[in-house]
Amino acid sequence: MRARTAGAPVDVLVVGAGLAGLHTATLLAERGHDVLLVERRPTLTGAIRTMGIFVRRTLDDFALPPECLGPPIRRVVLYPPGLRHPVTLVSRRDEYRVADMAPLYATTARAAADAGVRIALGTRYDGRRDGSFLLAGGAGPIAVRARFVVGADGARSRVARDLGLDRNHHLLVGAEEVFGIPAGDEPPTFHCVLDPSLAPGYLAWVVNDGRHAHVGVAGYADRFPGGLRRAMERFAASAPGLPAVARPAEVERRGGPIPVGGVLRRIGCADGLLVGDAAGAVSPLTAGGLDPCLRLSALAADVLDEALRAGRPEPLTRYDGAALRARFRGRLTLRRALAQVRTPAVAAAAFALLRTPPGRAAARRVLFGDASFPDP
Ligand SMILES: Cc1cc2nc3c(=O)[nH]c(=O)nc-3n(C[C@H](O)[C@H](O)[C@H](O)COP(=O)(O)OP(=O)(O)OC[C@H]3O[C@@H](n4cnc5c(N)ncnc54)[C@H](O)[C@@H]3O)c2cc1C
Repeated sequence: MRARTAGAPVDVLVVGAGLAGLHTATLLAERGHDVLLVERRPTLTGAIRTMGIFVRRTLDDFALPPECLGPPIRRVVLYPPGLRHPVTLVSRRDEYRVADMAPLYATTARAAADAGVRIALGTRYDGRRDGSFLLAGGAGPIAVRARFVVGADGARSRVARDLGLDRNHHLLVGAEEVFGIPAGDEPPTFHCVLDPSLAPGYLAWVVNDGRHAHVGVAGYADRFPGGLRRAMERFAASAPGLPAVARPAEVERRGGPIPVGGVLRRIGCADGLLVGDAAGAVSPLTAGGLDPCLRLSALAADVLDEALRAGRPEPLTRYDGAALRARFRGRLTLRRALAQVRTPAVAAAAFALLRTPPGRAAARRVLFGDASFPDP
């Protein structure tokens, strides 16, 4: 079916209504621009990917709806392979809160709509032709003209490909299960297991904040012995930090790719730009992407606002991934080191360092430090 052409051009077409797309679209609409946000999922509260841990710096700097946030977490327990003799670290400050992501996306989308963003759910971006952007939705294919396009379409961005921008090649995959739990005696705790036979190149985790348990694994897709699903089953069978009650029947499953190669170099051009996972804006070390996507979206909105007001694309040259990437060197080096930890014996040897005072100090810096995505 040939795409019919929609009416007047929009200022900005944002593709993808994850946190990056919602935030960028809202900031632009608040500055008076005409923004169309398209999302292929029919609802924002289904098929959630992220665990939703927000770190202290994000909680300090961004107004997240408090009713969507779980209790604060100050305690982290690190386990070697075999789970014996873990190392416990406790912060003086509230370090993490796990968001209830379905209501958080719904609230964020309401704020976007209130700011004037037109949101089209169940609408897939399908490519670019003759200066228009092709969308496929319930009403059939349409071609939309837009002054700029924003690729907020996740780790495997189609917009990046169509704009000829850089694309993510260094990816982990993660999966987790979420379920409600009865309140127990343990304070809210983030349990992290460093075992490459379970989570090759990353971690297996349990976050128990006294309301929900999140049980997950992530690592390099081609290194899971028996696959990601099998690793998840193995871990869930003996995961630490869970109350001794029967596993509930209702378990929500989440998962997806996580780009950990650092922010990409070319993330903008005269026709648009990338934000969030599409731009590789994820910590290569912790694989946290929620703080980076909010910070990079703010810069994206600034340069797009300037370009729209000026009526020319030059301000987008300030949107420079190469400059941001230079500030990731340390984290990229640590990511390469983590990728080399391929056997439980090597992990156990590396874990021994965490028991020394410098090792504990380094772990505290990573887990409780102030570093986040460099402020653009
Ligand atoms: C299992 C897992 C756990 C994680 N846990 C954490 C965590 O606890 N803390 C943290 O900081 N980070 C975490 N991350 C990373 C974090 O979730 C991401 O970095 C962040 O959510 C990225 O947001 P985004 O908006 O860029 O991308 P997404 O949230 O992936 O949004 C992209 C959106 O684009 C849509 N889309 C894609 N293609 C199209 C198309 N062609 N047309 C229309 N729509 C399209 C998708 O449907 C999707 O809704 C986790 C990731 C995974 C996989």
